[in-house]
Amino acid sequence: MNPQAPRLYGLPKVHKEDSSSDFNLVKIHKKRRVIYSSESENSSGVSPTEPLTPDEKPPNEEAETPKSLRALRDLLDNLQMRASMFIHCSVPKIYYGARTHKQLQQVVKEFRRTAYCGDARMSILSSRDYSCIREFDKSLYKTKNDMCKECVPKKTETHSKCLYFNNKTALCHDTLPAAFDLEDLVSAGQHLKACPYYAARTMASSADIVFCPYNYLIDPFIRNSMSIDLRDEIVILDEAHNIEDICRDAATFTVTRDHVHSALQELEQLSQYAYANQDIMADVLCIIRALTNWDDWFKNQTQFVIDLPLRNGEATHTLEVEFFAETLKNHNIGREQSQVLKEHTLRIEHAIACTKSKRVDSYLSKDIQNEFISILGKEVKNNILDEIKKAIYFGILFDSTPDISHVDQMSYVIRYVHIEGDDVEVKESFLGFFPIAGKTAVELTENILTQLEVITWTHIYGLGYDNAATMAGVHGGVQAIAKEHNP
Ligand code: SF4
Repeated sequence: MNPQAPRLYGLPKVHKEDSSSDFNLVKIHKKRRVIYSSESENSSGVSPTEPLTPDEKPPNEEAETPKSLRALRDLLDNLQMRASMFIHCSVPKIYYGARTHKQLQQVVKEFRRTAYCGDARMSILSSRDYSCIREFDKSLYKTKNDMCKECVPKKTETHSKCLYFNNKTALCHDTLPAAFDLEDLVSAGQHLKACPYYAARTMASSADIVFCPYNYLIDPFIRNSMSIDLRDEIVILDEAHNIEDICRDAATFTVTRDHVHSALQELEQLSQYAYANQDIMADVLCIIRALTNWDDWFKNQTQFVIDLPLRNGEATHTLEVEFFAETLKNHNIGREQSQVLKEHTLRIEHAIACTKSKRVDSYLSKDIQNEFISILGKEVKNNILDEIKKAIYFGILFDSTPDISHVDQMSYVIRYVHIEGDDVEVKESFLGFFPIAGKTAVELTENILTQLEVITWTHIYGLGYDNAATMAGVHGGVQAIAKEHNP
């Protein structure tokens, strides 16, 4: 053991300076005392050869500490613990995905109207096609992406050819409004001469909510390039029924026979330098064999389109899935020939098997949703009835209206006094409506009594209704029958 290694001797200690002169005057050692093993004895007389563990307290220390200081120390410990909990928990970021920037514009508009706007920082991601503000010369570059990749500095370079890139930090949360859409971002970028594309990416890393098109969340390549990690974050997808198509698009790519030809050409050139490329030759030959199979496949499909009419220079023929798979197999294109394809198909088969064996409850069917609504409705009604029962005395108001299908619906409202501590409040609670089974006073009274089953009829102190004879009649109306129950 290192002889100079420090040892800890107990908790902070409180010493009375002079108990006879001033009992309240105390001195606190802020840090634990550190003793090196070379010292023979510490000042408190505890032998350094018998160190206390940090949890042990020297005898009588608690008794020496005034009660108020012990309370203060406990409070500080508590605060320290809470602060460390706060530091270690992070609030998840919200990613809001929509199909188009037009839809995102609407969402940002709504976000602007919420109470969170200003406290929650936002950013909006888009492609360079939308947010690059540098002049684009089609004769020099195919796309804005190509232009940007050439302008921004590579890892080894320090200077950018794009002045907007150099000034990108000018566009930030401090220079933008609390809620901004893509148009706002681009026009602020033009005004400040700062790149909106890179500024939005930088702001996204510190934002609480990030708005972006779907593919920024779905496509793993875009996620990687934009440094988006969705683990432990919240993802909201607007109009999520589009997701299947978006996923399919993200996993789809087009291969033409021209692509295959140019790849074969390049690989064959490479294979001529077998000695220089000996470490990759086996892979090159394997890919050449696979691409030759693909070329044969394309050649054999020509028969299906050769006689078809051309539209925009193209003829289309759709193959049945089974037939398509069969043709690939006939040309040695399949999972037996490709390890990557094999792994993918195994993963898909596994996912399908899991989905079949595991029933995933979504609770989204209309029946279940209606059941939820009915359960919640009953709960709310029971709470109101409990309040009414507590109030003991109450008045009832009934009135009927025909609905769109000409069925008379009776609505009923209870009026009662709600007392909570010193607060006294007259409440009117709408309990619902029900179709009337009959129109005579007896039938109406029966209906009303059924609805009030849990409320004692004798506690009704008032009845409210319109002037219809069946309700208001003093001899045979509901009023008269009610009086029989509660004179
Ligand atoms: S840095 Fe920004 S403004 Fe400059 S080319 Fe790239 S995307 Fe366009």
